[in-house]
Amino acid sequence: MDEKYLAYEVREVKPGEFKGAIVEKDLSLLPDKGTLIRVYYSSLNYKDALSASGNKGVTKTYPFTPGVDAAGVIIKSDNPKFKEGDRVFVTGFDLGMNTNGGFGEYISVPSEWVFPLPEHIGFNEVMMYGTAGLTAGLSTLKLIEENVTNDKGNIVVSGASGGVGSTAVALLSFLGFSVTAVTGKEDFKKSLLEIGAKEILSRDALNDTSKKPLLSAKWAGGIDTVGGNTLSTMLKSIGRYGCIASCGNAGGFEVNTTVFPFILRGVVLAGIDSAECPYERRKIVWDKFFNEWNIINKLKHINKEIPLKEIDTYLSLMLKGENRGHIVVKHSD
Ligand code: NDP
Repeated sequence: MDEKYLAYEVREVKPGEFKGAIVEKDLSLLPDKGTLIRVYYSSLNYKDALSASGNKGVTKTYPFTPGVDAAGVIIKSDNPKFKEGDRVFVTGFDLGMNTNGGFGEYISVPSEWVFPLPEHIGFNEVMMYGTAGLTAGLSTLKLIEENVTNDKGNIVVSGASGGVGSTAVALLSFLGFSVTAVTGKEDFKKSLLEIGAKEILSRDALNDTSKKPLLSAKWAGGIDTVGGNTLSTMLKSIGRYGCIASCGNAGGFEVNTTVFPFILRGVVLAGIDSAECPYERRKIVWDKFFNEWNIINKLKHINKEIPLKEIDTYLSLMLKGENRGHIVVKHSD
């Protein structure tokens, strides 16, 4: 086993000032959580950008290696279910929050977080989904469970150029839904059409300032990655017995609403949490992604693979809301 490995490590260089760099680390110093994995791929998520910028709500102590996603092979495990060489992946739980994450060539995690990776799915391919995909999948599953069907109208997706948003657009359109993608990025419209969006609107479409409690019903359901007034507007604009999966806060965390969407239209506001989502629930989504929801061909349009050494550029784009699509991060072989 290698004694040294490379990891992108974030340090507090001055009080309140955080900087990341690729450093060589000692494998013996990686806290042992039971299952050691050699990581080949990770992916970039909003939470990683928060951790890398010193957000104490995400990561309490530094130096720290972010990366909420990781795919690789088992080196050793205290769980007999896993043997050396097994292909596996981990998304969420505490990985990349306060457990050193997938931007390192090795992670050590509890075996309960580890999923076996089917033979027909590559490390890079499972990371094209990553946490963004799991979140889009859980959101879509919720809409389906709430009986939002494609004959009832379009599904609106906010933050559509982001990792979660673009994957949601790809998945929903794959499943036969008509998707209205809402984006602030003119230059990403072509990609959204390529992955199946039927209609593209600018962010203004979800920025109502009228103070009206309800607007005309425009959509059968929604997936919101933005929060704030975007979610408030979406709530006013969903039709009877529609459902919104609220999964993000890229634009704000406060929501102003009245009870009218709920008591006059029967709208359901469903919360989506991919990080602590129980194993059995996330397994439903992963099994679908590896079988009947396999959208890897669509995801190729919106995923970009970068080497770990370029991570700084993409972390800062993400913090500025300037990310486009989803980023897969490759470690050296
Ligand atoms: P990205 O940075 O890839 O995408 C966020 C998108 O939101 C941007 O591309 C932009 O899209 C839009 N956006 C950014 N800032 C604003 C703003 N001020 N007003 C309106 N829109 C804005 O992030 P992710 O897709 O990875 O994550 C999206 C959100 O989902 C984050 O808040 C993240 O924390 C959350 N999340 C939640 C999870 C869960 O389990 N609930 C799991 C994963 C992520 P555009 O320009 O197209 O409008």
